[in-house]
Amino acid sequence: TGATNAQPPAEAAAADYRDSTAAVDDRVDDLLARMTLDDKIGQMTQADRDAILTQSDVATYRLGSILSGGDGTVSPNNAQTWADTYDNLQRQALSTPLGIPMIYGIDAVHGANAVRGATIYPHNIGLGATRDPELVERIGGAVAEEVSGTGIDWTFAPCLCVARNDRWGRTYESFGETPELVTSMATIVDGFQGTGGPGSKPSSVLATAKHYIGDGGTTNGTDQGNTQLTEAELRAYHLPPFKEAVERGVGSVMVSFSSWNGAKLHGHKYLLTDVLKGELGFDGFVVSDWAGIDQLDGRTGFTGAEVSQAINAGLDMIMVPNDYKTFIGLLRDEVNAGRIPMSRIDDANRRILTKKFELGLFEHPLTDRSYTGTVGSAAHRDLARQAVRESQVLLKNDGGVLPLAKSGKLFVAGKSADDIGNQSGGWTMSWQGHSGDITPGTTVLEGIRAAVTDPSRVTFDRYGNGIDGSYTAAVAVVGETPYAEGRGDRTGAMGLDTEDLQTLTRLRASGVPVVVVLVSGRPLDIAAQLPDWPALVAAWLPGTEGGGVSDVLFGDYRPTGKLPMTWMRSVSQQPINVADGKDPLFEYGYGLTYDAGTDPDPDPDRDPGDESCTATTKVVNAWSGGFQAEVTVRNPGTVQLTGWEAAWDLGSRTITNLWNGQLTTSGGRATVRNSPWNGTVPPGGTVTFGYTANGSADNLPPPACTGATTP
Ligand code: BGC
Repeated sequence: TGATNAQPPAEAAAADYRDSTAAVDDRVDDLLARMTLDDKIGQMTQADRDAILTQSDVATYRLGSILSGGDGTVSPNNAQTWADTYDNLQRQALSTPLGIPMIYGIDAVHGANAVRGATIYPHNIGLGATRDPELVERIGGAVAEEVSGTGIDWTFAPCLCVARNDRWGRTYESFGETPELVTSMATIVDGFQGTGGPGSKPSSVLATAKHYIGDGGTTNGTDQGNTQLTEAELRAYHLPPFKEAVERGVGSVMVSFSSWNGAKLHGHKYLLTDVLKGELGFDGFVVSDWAGIDQLDGRTGFTGAEVSQAINAGLDMIMVPNDYKTFIGLLRDEVNAGRIPMSRIDDANRRILTKKFELGLFEHPLTDRSYTGTVGSAAHRDLARQAVRESQVLLKNDGGVLPLAKSGKLFVAGKSADDIGNQSGGWTMSWQGHSGDITPGTTVLEGIRAAVTDPSRVTFDRYGNGIDGSYTAAVAVVGETPYAEGRGDRTGAMGLDTEDLQTLTRLRASGVPVVVVLVSGRPLDIAAQLPDWPALVAAWLPGTEGGGVSDVLFGDYRPTGKLPMTWMRSVSQQPINVADGKDPLFEYGYGLTYDAGTDPDPDPDRDPGDESCTATTKVVNAWSGGFQAEVTVRNPGTVQLTGWEAAWDLGSRTITNLWNGQLTTSGGRATVRNSPWNGTVPPGGTVTFGYTANGSADNLPPPACTGATTP
């Protein structure tokens, strides 16, 4: 909602609905009484900006809403350009006799993602991995500010889909596979709108819970497919997030293209009217999906019959009725013929107008340019980087390859190591997303270069050419390239592509340990390659601050992310999810950290005095009944570490020899203190000690490290 006042037309200026001190219900009553049928039909029509033939159509057809849907080309438009466009269209709406402002909607699904220079956050699947609803709410707030800076009033987010099959091309738009996890992330609605609902803060943006209902539960994960579930199952898996969003006052709900047991949701009166509006008490408005009514009768296009079916089922606003002039004519005919009761039209208008009043659109219809400067701000990028850190899921870390030493010699490879577009995925600057330098940000490679002590010791080659045995470690950033709905479904194999496999083969041939960072919108079929990789991090689609992956790689942040999806062992297990009893590669909720069993500190700016070291173990030699291991103690802080202590469970093992440290053992625990000759660790530096033990090296717990920095 904007803050700039615009003059209402003279004839409307004195009307009661203009009185900002009056109750919203009274304002709606007053306004409804003044509206013609054409005014009301216009409110229910949402046209695509690019389909509006002349700007004056907004006024001529009394269009109540405009959207910018997924764009085919990479957006060149910054916030200023968007705001200018918005204001011009809004002025058209304000020029009508009643001066009812239009509401402009857009898919700001992981940031103001159509705005060049905006902060792009991890896609929902990564946010699900954070298990941090409070962070997600703050992200919603930051996105609302950037969207407000473009004038736009409404985001088609959050997707509250519960993705039950990884084949679905929209899996990454889901917070995860369980209704509990998705429901917990509905806090983002408060971030978008404000905790008091639409208009409860100056940067309030109307939220949309989508796609109602069962979009993530279709057979074979087919986008826009059929969800075959009993009503009890549908309610158990797919309804809870919507219930939560309604309780949080979500302003709009978007209908799913999919069907439930063969019946299209766009015509489903029971689910839209009886369940959503009746049982759940949803008081906002229901919007169709893009040209959703076109699909109602199984043919392209629509007639009056489909218009009646949709509106009578409970749809309040139709998104992109192709074209709007035809739709408006048909809707008028259906009402005049008595096939849609006037009470239904009034109810739809009441719902839409209530949200416009609540948002403050009548008082502040134009862009509040004070928010334009928040687009891509340092504070928002910091928040996004925090989300990137928290969303990383450490899936494998054999021998403590991670965290990497900042002083090491590193080789970085992979098609997504230096690619903002790949790390952002679909719905970024264009509908399907695009590889390459599409908007400013920090790539994973740039994050690595900024983290190391000497950037000249980092070599990058996308294909892994030129690596030799002289490197400490190789980091391969591989996975999926951008896609969105329609193109993202995978019906066949779900493994890495040929380029990735060849890159990984080159790296492996060098003998250097390979840390794999997987940039993908979903779990991939990697079981065959996993034994070759000592370490694996699921980075999901981290967005423009993907450089934050390096915070985890170097131990500046100990990983806390947990899998939001069960990870398949083979593609034949799809659909695989928590309840099905299959044998996954990694279970839902799985995620390692560097100090197993200790309390991870989510604050990267932690005080070095209370969080001054990490320790990892590498088994260097093993034989029947014994082994040798090395422990590396690392100082991730910014000041010299003058004390440390590493402790771990011995189990039934006994240490027979130790070098480079002072050992005490008691009660099945081994503790090593900083040795007199190697007591201090410089910022970013490491010390290593080793030991020989009797017993098994299997399931060796990594030490918990504590440290003290004394002046
Ligand atoms: C998608 C929605 C989106 C809409 C507008 C549709 O194709 O399914 O999620 O909000 O387009 O872009």
